Amino acid sequence: MSLVSIRDVRKSFGPNEVLKGVSLDIAKGDVVAIIGRSGSGKSTLLRCINGLETYQSGTIVADGIEVGGAATNLRELRRHVGMVFQQFNLFPHLTAAENVMLAPTVVNKTSKAEARATAAEVLAKVGLSEKMDAYPSELSGGQQQRVAIARSLAMRPKVLLCDEITSALDPELVNEVLRVVEQLAREGMTLILVTHEMRFARDVGTKLVFMHHGKVHEEGVPKEVFAAPRTPELQQFVGQVS
Ligand code: ADP
Ligand code: MG
Repeated sequence: MSLVSIRDVRKSFGPNEVLKGVSLDIAKGDVVAIIGRSGSGKSTLLRCINGLETYQSGTIVADGIEVGGAATNLRELRRHVGMVFQQFNLFPHLTAAENVMLAPTVVNKTSKAEARATAAEVLAKVGLSEKMDAYPSELSGGQQQRVAIARSLAMRPKVLLCDEITSALDPELVNEVLRVVEQLAREGMTLILVTHEMRFARDVGTKLVFMHHGKVHEEGVPKEVFAAPRTPELQQFVGQVS
C-alpha cells in the first residue's frame, strides 16, 4: 500500500507543460530524494502533492485523500501532508513557540496549554528547547529552518515534503538542518525531499528520483543510481554537481 500515489500527473502553466505524466509510489517510511535541474518541475510536483497547485490530469492520493479534485478538503490534507520551504516563512512578530503553536490552535482548535506542550516537544526534537521564546530575528538561518520543521511536526503529519530546505542557508548551517531531517528519517517519518545535497540523498534516501523536463527520468535505490546512472542526462547532472 502506497502512502502517496501519483499517477500520470500532467500540469501546465498556460501553454507550458511542466509535469508531463509523472507517476510515483511512496510507501510509509520511504525517504524520497528528488533531484534534477532547475526548472525540471520538482517544486511543482511537491506543490501538487499538498494541494498548493492544481493539475490538469492524472491522480494524486495522499494518505487516502484524493488531492486536486474540487472536493478536496485542503485543510484536512495539510494536516496529513506537511511542507517545509526554502524560505522559512516564520511570522516575525511571533516567538518560536508561538509560530509552532499557530496551526494547532487555529486549525485543530487545540488548547493553548496543549499546543504549548506540543511546541516544547517538537522544538526539543529539533534541538531548540532553549529558544522557545526567541523571535525569528534572534535566530540563525539554521535555527529558523529548524523552527519551521518543528512547526510542521506539530501537526503530526504522515508525510513531510521538504523543498530545498537548506538552499537558502550559509554552508556552515546546512548540516544542523540535515541532521534533524536524518533523525526524522531514522524515526520512520515518510519524507519527500527536493535537494541539491547529493551525499545526503545517497546516504539517507531510500529512493532517488531524477526529474528531467517534467518527467521522472530515472529512479531507484540511491546508492545504485549514483554508482551507475543509466541515462546521459543523469550522468551529466551528477558530474556537474559532484
Ligand atoms: P524546479 O523546482 O525543478 O526548479 P519548478 O517546478 O519550480 O522547477 O518549475 C518548473 C517550470 O514551471 C519552470 O519552467 C517554471 O518557470 C514554471 N513555473 C513554476 N511555477 C510557475 C507559475 N506559478 N507560473 C508559471 N510558470 C511556473
Ligand atoms: Mg524548485
